[in-house]
Amino acid sequence: MKKCRLIVSVDLSRCVGCGRCVKACLTGALALVNGKAKLVDEKRCDGFGSCIAACPHNAISLTLREAEEFDWSILLNVKLSDWIEKFRLTSRKITGYTLSFD
Ligand code: SF4
Repeated sequence: MKKCRLIVSVDLSRCVGCGRCVKACLTGALALVNGKAKLVDEKRCDGFGSCIAACPHNAISLTLREAEEFDWSILLNVKLSDWIEKFRLTSRKITGYTLSFD
């Protein structure tokens, strides 16, 4: 079912195909297709933006549009330590500060 929500969008003119966003996405929403990042599964995009933080070329942004709802069951397969790292990296990009969970 589709609803209006924030979801990632890739600016192909900026993307150089480095793949950092693909690695940063813990839920497998992105893949490299023909040398460019592509949102391959809307249900896997949580809209949290770790891919945005990982991209060195500012090629990814969040867009408010109709999209498939996020499949929360995907989170059952994500390790807590990976979530903490994702939150730390994303927070640093947004705030400029590094969070510590020690
Ligand atoms: S991190 Fe940025 S430049 Fe690299 S593949 Fe993803 S969108 Fe493209």
